[in-house]
Amino acid sequence: MNTAQLFCLYLLTRLVGRTIVTSKNMDPRIILLFILSFKRGICFEECNPNVAIIGGGIGGAASSHFLTELFKNNVNIDLYEANTIGGRLATVEIDDNKFEAGGSIIHSQNKYMQEFVKLLGLDVRSNNNQRASIWDGNEIIFEESKWELITLAKLIYKYGTQLFSLNRYISSILNKFEKIYHLQDAGYSFINISSFMLAINAEFPRTLQISIKNELLNLGYSEKLIDEIVKTTVVVNYGQDTNVHSFVGFVSLAGAGSNLWSVRGGNKKVPEHLIYRNKNVNVIPSHVIKVVNMLTNGTKNLYEVHYSNKDSTVIMKSVYDIIIIATPLIHDQKFPITFEGFPKNDFYSIGKYHETIATFIKADLKPYYFGLEEEVDNILSCNPNKTVISALGRLNSVEGTMKNSRVWKIFSNKPLKSEIMNEMFSNIKEVQQISWKAYPEYSSKIHEASFKLHNALYHVNAIEWVASAMEMSAISGRNVALLAYNDFVQKYCLKKSEVQENSDENTPSTEL
Ligand SMILES: Cc1cc2nc3c(=O)[nH]c(=O)nc-3n(C[C@H](O)[C@H](O)[C@H](O)COP(=O)(O)OP(=O)(O)OC[C@H]3O[C@@H](n4cnc5c(N)ncnc54)[C@H](O)[C@@H]3O)c2cc1C
Repeated sequence: MNTAQLFCLYLLTRLVGRTIVTSKNMDPRIILLFILSFKRGICFEECNPNVAIIGGGIGGAASSHFLTELFKNNVNIDLYEANTIGGRLATVEIDDNKFEAGGSIIHSQNKYMQEFVKLLGLDVRSNNNQRASIWDGNEIIFEESKWELITLAKLIYKYGTQLFSLNRYISSILNKFEKIYHLQDAGYSFINISSFMLAINAEFPRTLQISIKNELLNLGYSEKLIDEIVKTTVVVNYGQDTNVHSFVGFVSLAGAGSNLWSVRGGNKKVPEHLIYRNKNVNVIPSHVIKVVNMLTNGTKNLYEVHYSNKDSTVIMKSVYDIIIIATPLIHDQKFPITFEGFPKNDFYSIGKYHETIATFIKADLKPYYFGLEEEVDNILSCNPNKTVISALGRLNSVEGTMKNSRVWKIFSNKPLKSEIMNEMFSNIKEVQQISWKAYPEYSSKIHEASFKLHNALYHVNAIEWVASAMEMSAISGRNVALLAYNDFVQKYCLKKSEVQENSDENTPSTEL
């Protein structure tokens, strides 16, 4: 045993020793890691990458969390954020109360969001008990009752029993999708969305190539159900129509289910706490302008990040082993990044992001305008060309303490004119508008999107072409962390002779 091995043994013993001594249920993966590390001479103190994460939304935050976990704290992360930590998870303030302005609803089967909330000691609030109506621009075509049984009877009368089978179908898709958690626990990572979808289920890649309308028509669902119920969920969640691919259609339908929740105090607390409580993360409040592939002598991949302060007066540079881009790469993005020195420079998506306007208004709703006799909590559109708005809903504050608040959130595809607001509301006290590059403009002609853009350059937001949601960004954050970890350890943490030995071992690759 040489000195380096002895040092490694000492460090590894310190790292895992306490767990071995104190835990009866020692995780067998830690024992395996211990044995393998010693046998192969992997020493995590020697294997300490410098990482840049560009973007401090939930995707960047999840990446930093999973990377820290994988490298057992032996990682230095600079996280660049041009605007505000949280990204599309943000709040607006009206009369001293805060309301969700971006991503607001979390599904009960979103495993990572639940784990983060638990890990960070955050509290949740339920999002279930609100009544909704569907509006086609001429009339209310469906109105939920205060009584669940009456709502059920009305649904059966209008759509027959197909809604139940659709519900079962969506549950089966969600259950199949849960395989991703087992794959990630086993260390599997994926270089693009096709291999990601294929590994979860052999049927899933096809769901990106057929519209939700055609998929459901082929399965025998009625046009009425698709044009009224399914379309409403796609309009509300993504501001789009039933020509979106069927996987994102399933995600919209799942978002219409029960057991929905949010984080008390605001969903942005999750990325904020994941980032600021992680001692390995150094937040750099700057805009990344350029990523340069430094053409070194072939032994090590290094990237240079050029960044500037808010008013772009000073440009600074730092060098990294790994770069994780955790923001969409679209041509009209607010903080564009250029790439230099790469063999291929086609990292920007050929698709566009959908613009959604969120209008917050403190006022009284005029139910008669929509053909209603009394106020309801939500009015959802199944025909946004006619209704102008995609959805309108009464807001509860992020603390969950308000009942019958007078604050409403309206989603629309274009900024709302004041005449429309005056037709829908009276006693308008305050209006705030936020324009979001919200999520991809989906179709069934989906192109490939890569999580791995270059040797050690990764992209979290490729996942959004499958579906955009907080949980999807968290899953993708873990995927890029696994890709980066596997690539880095394989290249630099095994000694040269062992890299050779390792490549001869013919062990299955975990990178698909
Ligand atoms: C109106 C709306 C409603 C939604 N509703 C839901 C919902 O109910 N449930 C749900 O699960 N999801 C919802 N979503 C989707 C969800 O919010 C997003 O999928 C998720 O928040 C994306 O997180 P992200 O970290 O991947 O990206 P982002 O949150 O966009 O984070 C990217 C970050 O990168 C920063 N950045 C960009 N360029 C640079 C640069 N050059 N240098 C440094 N920093 C940079 C940005 O400022 C930003 O903070 C909604 C989205 C919107 C807009």
